[in-house]
Amino acid sequence: ATDKPLLAVNNIEVIYDHVILVLKGVSLSVSKGGIVALLGANGAGKTTTLKAISNLLRAERGEVTKGSIELEGERVQDLTPNDLVRRGVIQVMEGRHCFEHLTIEENLMTGAYTRGDGRAAIERDLEMVYSYFPRLKERRGSQAGYTSGGEQQMCAIGRALMSRPKVVLLDEPSMGLAPQLVEQIFEIVKQINEEEGVSILLAEQNTNIALKYARYGYILENGRVVMDGEAAALRENEDVKEFYLGLS
Ligand code: ATP
Repeated sequence: ATDKPLLAVNNIEVIYDHVILVLKGVSLSVSKGGIVALLGANGAGKTTTLKAISNLLRAERGEVTKGSIELEGERVQDLTPNDLVRRGVIQVMEGRHCFEHLTIEENLMTGAYTRGDGRAAIERDLEMVYSYFPRLKERRGSQAGYTSGGEQQMCAIGRALMSRPKVVLLDEPSMGLAPQLVEQIFEIVKQINEEEGVSILLAEQNTNIALKYARYGYILENGRVVMDGEAAALRENEDVKEFYLGLS
């Protein structure tokens, strides 16, 4: 239990287009088996933080200019996105991003592309994904583009699981989904976390739901972590209540 955290982000700065400083020294850590929430308003820098970790910034002319990112104590920020997937770090992008013209099952299988193990192991994991998302099994032959938003979100999470991740960077899974469906998806994510030991770093604007499922949370404002703590403590914090949880 005194091991290094699974994932550690140490004081990173991120700049887009050589001049736009978006992350101004962000630190966070995700322990093995943890669910950690990264909270904050639209534009606070949540997506940028996740993309810094999974090394997806380059495509957007962004770069980490300071600080370090470590997986199990080892610096990983110079690895390619594919190498990171092989090492167990995968991002589920905001907006779900399934391949619309592929079936649900074909989408899930694309998640296994970095794996070197055999067909049998991949088939087993496909069944594992279907056991968590029975809905995906029912829809396995449907073109993803014709499935619902909730099914596409499930498909995106399922596809990430097919890479056998250690940590999933989950960007705004609640986006555009009805509250009941959001709850259902979070329940499944929690189950996956508990049963498969997959750690989760969850970027969410929906503070209520995120703090219900996460054990620990960080609040980002304007590219800085302004507060962090156990989820239970954050839920009771007066500022968090006022600015992030609404006045319910
Ligand atoms: P959202 O909920 O919209 O995803 P966020 O907290 O994830 O918000 P980011 O998407 O990380 O925020 O954006 C943080 C800041 O960086 C914003 O001010 C945004 O305009 C800026 N930004 C994001 N991507 C780029 C880019 N490719 N080039 C320049 N600026 C960018």
